Formats: sequence, C-alpha cells, structure tokens
Amino acid sequence: MSGLFDGTPLERPVTCEQCGKPRKQCKCPRNATGQILNPRDQHPRVSRERRSGGKTITIITGLDNRATNLQQLLKDLKTKFGAGGTITEGRIELQGDHRDKLVAILKERGYQAKPSGG
Ligand SMILES: [Zn+2]
Repeated sequence: MSGLFDGTPLERPVTCEQCGKPRKQCKCPRNATGQILNPRDQHPRVSRERRSGGKTITIITGLDNRATNLQQLLKDLKTKFGAGGTITEGRIELQGDHRDKLVAILKERGYQAKPSGG
C-alpha cells in the first residue's frame, strides 16, 4: 500500500483515522476496500452442520477475510479444541460441535457473534 503522491512533492504521511499512526505502520483491521473494520463491527454467525456418517461440524460465517486473519483464527481454534478444521469460501469449518464455545470465544475477541440454526 502506498500513498497516491508517493515520490512527488505532494507526498505527505497518510495517517490512520483510528490509531493516528502512519498508514504503513497501522495494524488496524481493514476490509478489501481499505475501510477500517473492527471486530465489534463484524457479526459472525456460528452454526452446526451434520455430515453424512453422523459427524457434526461447526461453521463460522460472516467474518471479513481481510479484516480478520482467518488462517490464524483457525489455527487458534484447532489448537484449543484439538480438532481438525479448514477454510472454505471464507468460512471456517471446525470438526465437532463447538458452537456455544465458539460464540463465546468470538465475543471474547470483540466480535458480535451469534449462534445460528438449531
Ligand atoms: Zn490504524
């Protein structure tokens, strides 16, 4: 990411509207269009799905895959639950029924998470 006027006499530091740091040092979460998207402004849903063979998976949908590091989140969850998991089309799938715990974990991280489905 570079400023529009980089390398020209018009160059000036572009600062983040949230943390006040130069954009290059800013670690604020942003979506694909560069808008700040904090966890508290995201509303992920956590649902369960029964797969053939009777296995249940827990699915998190509705997280912005730019503002949220889905790979890191999946890694954390796999470690925490000792379960397998994957990311498919921007949604996190975790093996086993962890819906209520996942809602609680997402809330701890500041997301407006809600359980979904039965
Ligand atoms: Zn920032």
